[in-house]
Amino acid sequence: MSAVWDFADFDDHEHVHMFRDRASGLTAVVAVHSTHLGPGAGGVRYWRYPDKADAIVDALRLSRGMSYKNAMAGLPLGGGKGVILAEEGQAKSPELLAAFGRAVESLGGAYVTAEDVGMSVADMVEIARATRHVSGLPAAGDKVGGNPSPLTALGVYLGIRAAIREKLGVDSASGVRVAVQGVGSVGAGVARRLAAEGAVLTLADVDLARAKALAEELGADLADSAAIMEVEADVLSPNALGAILTEESIGKLKVSIVAGAANNQLATEADGQRLHDRGIVYAPDYVINAGGIINVALEYLGQGSHEEVERRIGQIPGRLADIWAESRASGTPASDVADRMAQALIGRG
Ligand code: NAD
Repeated sequence: MSAVWDFADFDDHEHVHMFRDRASGLTAVVAVHSTHLGPGAGGVRYWRYPDKADAIVDALRLSRGMSYKNAMAGLPLGGGKGVILAEEGQAKSPELLAAFGRAVESLGGAYVTAEDVGMSVADMVEIARATRHVSGLPAAGDKVGGNPSPLTALGVYLGIRAAIREKLGVDSASGVRVAVQGVGSVGAGVARRLAAEGAVLTLADVDLARAKALAEELGADLADSAAIMEVEADVLSPNALGAILTEESIGKLKVSIVAGAANNQLATEADGQRLHDRGIVYAPDYVINAGGIINVALEYLGQGSHEEVERRIGQIPGRLADIWAESRASGTPASDVADRMAQALIGRG
């Protein structure tokens, strides 16, 4: 049995909280990695973990990721993450969401929550009954808000265009072959934008009906979800799961670019070096997938117009180009360059 400080993923997190509410059945962890740039912002995940320690590890890792993501997106926010431990047969009740809202409120604004895996806009509305420190609420009138996925997709699409420019030296995705893993909210949005520009797409999803319907709509090819990582193409765009880039899978890639929305794509830090050694241009996930958090942040900060959100998302390609330029100049993997830039921004350089 070890304390949170002893976890391998403990990275001088400013605070880590465990919450339990007997009445509603809530068990939750909130990790605040850094408030150097502002309140620790990051979504809350509703997930069933085999072990409670896995939930703590997830909160530690994801909150550090949010510090890096928010810093690299130029936002005045630190990094935090919430995890609600789903239990077998337990409904995500209004009482449970209210209890999580009270937990967030008790932190006095050090943590700002929003949607993540297993949570919806409607859930945020429930949480907002108990705390002000919540974002990702329905967009009211002209204001910024609502589902961030289309804006994440916009940023990923722009990032893929930047990668194509970097690696293939062309300014358009027309004729460029892109293999898309996962065509959910973000993946489908990326695929539609690329198809509109004339990219040649191969789509895969464990939900075969979903992949098939989109492939028909866009005139794209379909691949088995197990085979998509080995499809011969210019770009692999991971938009499903994390930890898909491993020693084994990187060895089998037949692409020269990896650029997609999935969080924590590299299974280990060494996998960034492996991509670099193979000459594959990698778009660090937390840089390319920041479109959604930019939307969520401007909503929370009350600074949002749609034009401002899009202007800031428009800076993602330039940020990626800076990372790749530094990677080329120093011979350091893009993933390491991005981490160092982010660490410097949060005062840990
Ligand atoms: P989603 O649940 O809408 O879509 C994920 C899709 O991936 C689903 O269609 C699912 O069936 C499919 N999938 C799951 N396992 C797969 C596998 N092994 N092979 C192929 N397909 C598989 O999720 P989303 O909101 O589109 O997010 C996609 C990824 O991007 C996630 O990793 C998420 O954490 C990350 N992300 C999302 C946002 C956002 O704004 N939604 C922002 C940043 C990062």
